[in-house]
Amino acid sequence: MFQKNDVVTVKIENMGNDGEGIAKAEGYTLFVKDALPGDVAEVKIVKAKKQYGYGRLIRILEPSKDRVEAPCPLHQKCGGCQIQALSYPAQLRYKEEKVRGHLERIGGFTDPPVLPVMGMEDPFRYRNKAQFPFGTDREGRIVTGFYAGRTHSIVPNTDCMLGVPENKEILEIILAFLKERNIPVYDERTGKGLLRHALIRKGFRTGELMVCLVLNGRSLPGAQELADRLFALPGMASFTLNVNEKNTNVIMGAEILPVRGRTYMLDAIGPVRYRISPLSFYQVNPVQTEKLYQTALEYAGLTGREIVWDLYCGIGTISLFLAGKAEKVYGVEVIPDAVKDARSNALLNGITNAEFYEGRAEELLPEKYKQEGIRADVIVVDPPRKGCDQACLETMLLMKPERIVYVSCDSATLARDLKILCAGGYKLRQVQPVDMFGQTSGVECVVLMT
Ligand code: SAH
Repeated sequence: MFQKNDVVTVKIENMGNDGEGIAKAEGYTLFVKDALPGDVAEVKIVKAKKQYGYGRLIRILEPSKDRVEAPCPLHQKCGGCQIQALSYPAQLRYKEEKVRGHLERIGGFTDPPVLPVMGMEDPFRYRNKAQFPFGTDREGRIVTGFYAGRTHSIVPNTDCMLGVPENKEILEIILAFLKERNIPVYDERTGKGLLRHALIRKGFRTGELMVCLVLNGRSLPGAQELADRLFALPGMASFTLNVNEKNTNVIMGAEILPVRGRTYMLDAIGPVRYRISPLSFYQVNPVQTEKLYQTALEYAGLTGREIVWDLYCGIGTISLFLAGKAEKVYGVEVIPDAVKDARSNALLNGITNAEFYEGRAEELLPEKYKQEGIRADVIVVDPPRKGCDQACLETMLLMKPERIVYVSCDSATLARDLKILCAGGYKLRQVQPVDMFGQTSGVECVVLMT
């Protein structure tokens, strides 16, 4: 048995769900952040439980053959990246194994049909969106950056290597403005201060920039002056404020107040153009998203005669991607602004066979099924991390679509849901992981069931 502060030498055998190294020391399991499979390392135990413990990497004695020099000097401090020190090919192998492992262990599938991960050409600077928290450092200076892992302490950084270079320009303008005007930033402990977060998005295809400042209040002193400076940047299309006066971890509030430009920005994926509001979900990696949607389209197997339901449809991205090849597409989404975006997006693209409903998939689908006897040839689902609700899955089973296409950003809840669908009669045909989140432990999947 080990105790806190013991130092042990271990060989890292595996990688956990969050990219942490896993070692066995005399039968005891140790989770070690920043350690990679193949590393032989000195580890200090920081938390010891009966069966397992957590260790901190002190020294690497023999590096893993997959270890590379991480380009970002903050990669261990910042909570954004977990596996930057792992070579990109090894990252992709790890993600494939992660998906396979979840399908086997949680889903109960033997030898699941998992394809190799579709990787990125350039696994840096790929994100079109970032949400930067504002706070103060020990000296009381205003800082912005990213949270350190599992905490709310800010690691100052205006130029994250996963994001666009414009983030830095925009954040420097905001920081200088705050200083000049003496505008206080929000303090989570006291609930005082004004500026909480800056949401920045860039349309990779259109070059448009969107800035939305999340406030603990309803107005920003000097907002027009800030707008003048922001709109000096090429591509600036939308500057808005978001009101969030609650003492909560949720970043955005429900209300958007316009300052200058549109209250949304425009972008395109493949042949479809999209308008995106600050509160709407939009995939963060547009290059890989096109591959993801293309795979979803292929799995949907459309001939032009199908009724398609796209659940958790956001701004209608997948719905509109499929609409050209289907008879009719119905989208379901819970965020009102996203539903508005979805409807405008249909108009924007001249698509007349897509209809969008506002509501929870697990309520709206069963209701429509019971009351109107709706049917589907294909159901696409793309839920948030927590996966689909039981009531939603049960209705899908009653509707018996020919095909179910499941898009997932969490392979554990995916495996849980696929198990339910398979118990209800479906067969798992193919699983295509797509790397949308290089340098992190996250992986997206598209799955075909028939
Ligand atoms: N398919 C879209 C969005 C996927 S993200 C795209 O690829 O862009 C998941 C979406 O599900 C978000 O827009 C979120 O607002 C929505 N959502 C979350 N819970 C929901 C629920 N219970 N019912 C319907 N939509 C939900």
